Amino acid sequence: MRTIGLLGGMSWESTLTYYQLLNEMVRDRLGGLHSAEILLRSFDFAPIAALQAEANWSDAARLLVKAAVELEGAGAECLLICTNTMHICADEVQAALTIPLFHIADVTAEAIRNSGCTSPLLLATRFTMEKDFYKDRLRQRHGIEVCVPDQTERDDVHRIIYDELCRGIISPASKNRYLRIFETARKNGADGVIFGCTEVGLLISQDDIDLPAFNTTALHARAAVDFALSKDPSA
Ligand code: GLU
Repeated sequence: MRTIGLLGGMSWESTLTYYQLLNEMVRDRLGGLHSAEILLRSFDFAPIAALQAEANWSDAARLLVKAAVELEGAGAECLLICTNTMHICADEVQAALTIPLFHIADVTAEAIRNSGCTSPLLLATRFTMEKDFYKDRLRQRHGIEVCVPDQTERDDVHRIIYDELCRGIISPASKNRYLRIFETARKNGADGVIFGCTEVGLLISQDDIDLPAFNTTALHARAAVDFALSKDPSA
């Protein structure tokens, strides 16, 4: 089994989900007492969130690149950045590594394509919903055009992520707000929904939605486990 490197702590609430899913998936596939081989570098999220708020993406990228190189040096054989937003730095991180970085938008796009969904709603941080790095990757590499909520809705989606989900607060009112935003999008033509923030699955699930839901955390974890358990051709 190959070792999975994780850049986590952004926030740790969803890193916990990654840790659980990776171990459960390996147990389910290998059975017995098997669990995942993982190297986790977990950041203090407060300084990272401050860099995000200042749009200081270059310093944020430096932190991620340094940690990723250290994980590779420690023996990681692939890398996950356990947040959609920080994939804004993904190209810089991949360029510093010789191991593969599994881009969360790419693994999500594959699931969207397989489902036949063509116009999913993107629920994510303001950075992911408004900047180009994520939507452009889906459009240019995968031909997927996402819908985004309107400004007031985006403000609420973003606020709920940072003020609640990243702090371990799960509120029924916020769940209703997310589901209302989804209903509006559906009336406007959305035919699925991307949980485009790794904490969104803590609030809503496929069971709440009768169209395909793409949980980026679960899809990302599955891609890493597929790799970790696949045969290494050079071995
Ligand atoms: N984990 C979140 C994401 O997937 C938000 C926190 C962050 O900005 O990293 O985008």
